[in-house]
Amino acid sequence: MNFEHKISVLGSTGSIGTQTLEIAREYKGISIEAMSAHSNIELLERQAREFKPRLVCVTDERKAMDLKTKLADTDIKVIGGNDGLCEAATCGSAKTVVTAVVGIAGLVPTIEAIKAKKNIALANKETLVTGGHIVTRLAEENNIKILPVDSEHSAIFQSLQGCRDNREIKRILLTASGGPFFGKKRDELTDIKPEDALKHPNWNMGAKVTIDSSTLVNKGLEVMEARWLFGTENIKVLVHRQSVLHSAVEFCDNGVIAQLGAPDMRLPIQYALTYPNRLPMKGNELDLFEYGSLTFEEPDTDTFYALSLAYEALKDGGIKPTIFNSADEVAVELFMNGKLSYLGISEAIKKAMDSIPNVENPAIEDIFAADKAAREAVRSL
Ligand code: NDP
Ligand code: MG
Repeated sequence: MNFEHKISVLGSTGSIGTQTLEIAREYKGISIEAMSAHSNIELLERQAREFKPRLVCVTDERKAMDLKTKLADTDIKVIGGNDGLCEAATCGSAKTVVTAVVGIAGLVPTIEAIKAKKNIALANKETLVTGGHIVTRLAEENNIKILPVDSEHSAIFQSLQGCRDNREIKRILLTASGGPFFGKKRDELTDIKPEDALKHPNWNMGAKVTIDSSTLVNKGLEVMEARWLFGTENIKVLVHRQSVLHSAVEFCDNGVIAQLGAPDMRLPIQYALTYPNRLPMKGNELDLFEYGSLTFEEPDTDTFYALSLAYEALKDGGIKPTIFNSADEVAVELFMNGKLSYLGISEAIKKAMDSIPNVENPAIEDIFAADKAAREAVRSL
C-alpha cells in the first residue's frame, strides 16, 4: 500500500516509542524526522542509525554530549535539554508528532508542536490532564488534529467515526482492566512491593503507567483525558478484566458502539498515524472463542479511591488535575525507590489536593507552579 508520512517521535526509547518505530519499520512510507529519549542513549543511538532522523534530542544534557560523540560519524544533529525537546517537536517537515514521553514533561513540547501546525498522535495523557484547556484551544486555532494513542481513547475515537455532532453522545463507557490487585481490599495491599505492582495482567507498558494502572490513577487520568478529547464529563468507568473491549460510546438513541481487539498497542498507534485509513497488521488477531465471555463490573472506589479523587479534580478543574497528576508522579517515584508505601500513593495525592488551593483557568505558569507545589507537598510528607 502506498503511504507516505513524516513523523517525529518524542520518547522513542519507551514502550510506545519503540512500538511506533516497529510500525515505521513495517511501513517504509513512514519516515522519522526527529526522535528523543531522556537518558537511554545506547538504544537511541541504535534507533538513530536505523531510522536516520535529521535530529535527535536527549533531555539529560550530559548524556546528550555523549551521544553527540557516538554519532559524530553521521550527519544527524544531536541536541539536549528541554529546549531541545521543543526543537525536536517542531523541526522540519514532520506532519505528525507522536508524544510518547512520560509525565508533565510532555506538555510544553506538545504545545510547541501544535503552534508549529503539527498534528499530534497523543500518548502522553498528562498533556491534556494538566493543560487540556490550553491545548484544545490551540489545536482548534491552528486547525490541527489530536489523534488519541491511548487504547481506550482510540477505541472511543474509532467508535465515533460517522458521528457528526458530539451532542449525540450520551456518555462514554471507559473500560479498565482493574490491574493486578482487582478484588483485593485495602488491608491486603499494605505490603505491596514495586515488583508486585509492575505485573500487569494484560498490557506490557512503561513502569509509571503500569503502577498507575494498579492504583486506578491511570483510569483517573484517562477520565480527564477523555473529557478534553470528546467534550463530555459524562464518563463511566467499567472494570473489564479481559481488556478486549477497549471502550465504547453510548449515544442518545441508547445505541452503544464499541471497538474490540486483542490487547496490543500497535493498533491504536498505527491508527493515529494512518487515520482515516486502516492498514493491515501482522499477528495478534482477536479470537473471541478463546475468551468465551466478556465481563463488566463496577470499580471498587473504596479501595482504589484515587479514581474518585480524579473525578473530584475533573469537577473542580483549574490546577486540581495538575496537582492530582504531579503528586502521583512523585509518589510513584518514591514508591519505586522504597520510600513510600503502596497505599501511600493515593494518600499522597489526596493530601496534596487538600492542601493546595485551586487556581481557576490557569495559565501555563500557574500549571507549573502547581506542579512544583504538589511535588513539594508530597516530598514533605
Ligand atoms: P516509558 O517509560 O516506557 O517511556 C517514556 C519515554 O519518555 C522514554 O523514551 C524516556 O526516555 C522518555 N522520558 C522519560 N522521562 C523524561 C523526561 N523527564 N523528559 C523527556 N523524556 C522523558 O513510557 P510509556 O511508553 O509506557 O508511556 C509514555 C506515555 O504514553 C505516558 O504518558 C503513558 O501514560 C502513555 N501511555 C502508554 C501506554 C503504554 O502501553 N505504554 C498506553 C497508553 C498511554 P528514556 O528511555 O531515556 O528514559
Ligand atoms: Mg489506556
